Amino acid sequence: MFWDCHMHCNFSGDSETPAIDMINAAKAKGLRGITFTDHLDIDYPPQFGFFDLDLENYYPKQHALALQESTDDFTILTGLEMGIQSHVADKCYEAAKQYDYDFIIGSTHVVDHLDPYYDVFWETDDVSKLLTRYYQVILENITAYTDFDALGHLDYIFRYKDEIKNTDTYLPYRDIVDAILEKIIKMDKALEINTGGYRKGIDNPNPSASIIKRYHELGGKLITLGADAHNTADIASDFEKLPSLLKECGFTEYAVYKNRKPTLYPLG
Ligand SMILES: [Zn+2]
Ligand SMILES: [Zn+2]
Repeated sequence: MFWDCHMHCNFSGDSETPAIDMINAAKAKGLRGITFTDHLDIDYPPQFGFFDLDLENYYPKQHALALQESTDDFTILTGLEMGIQSHVADKCYEAAKQYDYDFIIGSTHVVDHLDPYYDVFWETDDVSKLLTRYYQVILENITAYTDFDALGHLDYIFRYKDEIKNTDTYLPYRDIVDAILEKIIKMDKALEINTGGYRKGIDNPNPSASIIKRYHELGGKLITLGADAHNTADIASDFEKLPSLLKECGFTEYAVYKNRKPTLYPLG
């Protein structure tokens, strides 16, 4: 029985699904629990959309719904997916402190004012330079802002460019990826295993097995699981692939954060 600890409802700019629908679908799928992690992306470039979060309503409403809908067998938690940009770190800290979130995912969605989800980001002759820059920005972000529990979908950028979708996300960038992993291990943060990439046609979660293995080798102990669903169909998608893959990488347990503290669960 899994927990899915990364999902969005219609509090996020890119989801139209009511929270209650996500809850009912997760119960029907037999999950043990879920954590809502709606998007807060402060100073997200406006040409790509709107990812500010209605903070005054989000936590109070989700938390009330969580209390109302949780049962002995199914727990609902309320978190945030913080889209970090180093120049707004102060505002990120302020927002994180405003409510008693259970779990905060630290993600990087914007690189030098561009979102890799969109083609304009990829207009370059030198893709490997862009990928190195992406990892560098993550390192800068988690240096500027540290109030998160798990590093979100490291290497997910590869899913947005067909030519590199199934290329090695670790070895060519080894030094910078190692620096990121060493930093989160030192800070006692978890590495999120995000299955959203499978839905985009890659044959790994984000990050890929090579990075998860390396995290374990370097002493990393905490992983969290999330499908990054924005609709009911994607909740816990491809989770059945995780136990064997993660065991090969050295993990037998995953963490669920409640009140910002991890509890470990066996991987099936
Ligand atoms: Zn994200
Ligand atoms: Zn997400």
